Amino acid sequence: MSTPLQQNLLNMNLPVIQAYFEGLGEKAFRGRQVFKWIHQQGLYDFNEMTDISKELRSQLTQQACIRAPEIASQEISDDGTFKWLLRLADGNSIETVFIPENDRGTLCISSQAGCILNCTFCATARQGFNRNLEVHEIIGQLYVANRVLRGLANNNGDRIITNVVMMGMGEPLLNFDNVTQAMDIMQDDLGYGLSKRRVTLSTSGVIPMIDKLKETNPVSLAVSLHAPNDKLRDQLVPLNKKYPIKELMDACKRYVAGEPRRRVTMEYVMLKGINDNEKHVRQLIKILSGIPAKVNLIPFNSFDNSGFERSGMDAINNFRESLMQAGIITVTRKTRGDDINAACGQLAGSIVDRTRRSKAYTTEAVNQS
Ligand code: SAH
Repeated sequence: MSTPLQQNLLNMNLPVIQAYFEGLGEKAFRGRQVFKWIHQQGLYDFNEMTDISKELRSQLTQQACIRAPEIASQEISDDGTFKWLLRLADGNSIETVFIPENDRGTLCISSQAGCILNCTFCATARQGFNRNLEVHEIIGQLYVANRVLRGLANNNGDRIITNVVMMGMGEPLLNFDNVTQAMDIMQDDLGYGLSKRRVTLSTSGVIPMIDKLKETNPVSLAVSLHAPNDKLRDQLVPLNKKYPIKELMDACKRYVAGEPRRRVTMEYVMLKGINDNEKHVRQLIKILSGIPAKVNLIPFNSFDNSGFERSGMDAINNFRESLMQAGIITVTRKTRGDDINAACGQLAGSIVDRTRRSKAYTTEAVNQS
């Protein structure tokens, strides 16, 4: 057990951990050594850090800890997808998903306990919102997943997790500072060494924060578009009332400006009879004209009392065909892990709701952004 006075080193990106060691009267490079032990080797016991003196190890054991969220349960889908329910110290639980593919392994990370945005087709929204995750709870998901997967694979040092998507529970851009610090650790060569291309942040479209992200940590950007006109998007993604489509598209343009080969991924959930007909695809082609974008069609994943149905395969294929004919790169996202409710929009965890749901999207957190 740790005491409240112990510093959790999982909270610290490289500059912070170096400063912490300097504060202990040590050289900054001790911080780098410990950082590597934590993130590259997955250690939590200071006594296993063999290049650190015995005295410093015992001082660290007293004053610091390396504490990640606890695994409450693990489920493995028929298709090999893992879902972990992680318990946080305050009683909330969040979910993290690992999706293995032939050429890569993607970890889907949560950024908040619950979500404030109330998108009508998303299971997380039904849980309400409790709070932002701390840095150690965000990077802790990668730390824990790595430990489990390496243990299973009897790993020889190969990277199992090659990509991270900030697409779990919550709106990452409403927890900007903690999410960007955790993404620093993911990208640090002494941490997980993932390039900015391999870290993707998905947002419902918090425009000022998209601009700030470009300045701070310009990872790959995905935007939850889901509707080709404001009237429909207001209903599906209520944040649209604050940040409508035209302004959002302009923000996407700014995000990739000056980098001719970069594109923003537009996520579009396929909802039967709601946003999937020919008129919708024509409108979508129009709003995407001149935007460096590619489209990711997501077949809707159902959950209890969702009130929506997945579009038929023909509708999805026709939609994709029309976009491709208009010159827009479009892929249909493979549904993974839906037998264990691990697919997009199915993550729920167990949240102690503190919001008044009907007012969720106008609450302070959004207004302050
Ligand atoms: N709040 C962020 C992160 C969530 S990412 C965002 O909105 O982008 C998860 C992606 O899955 C988003 O594009 C989200 O809109 C989509 N999604 C939500 N519910 C879904 C469902 N039931 N079926 C398919 N996709 C869904």
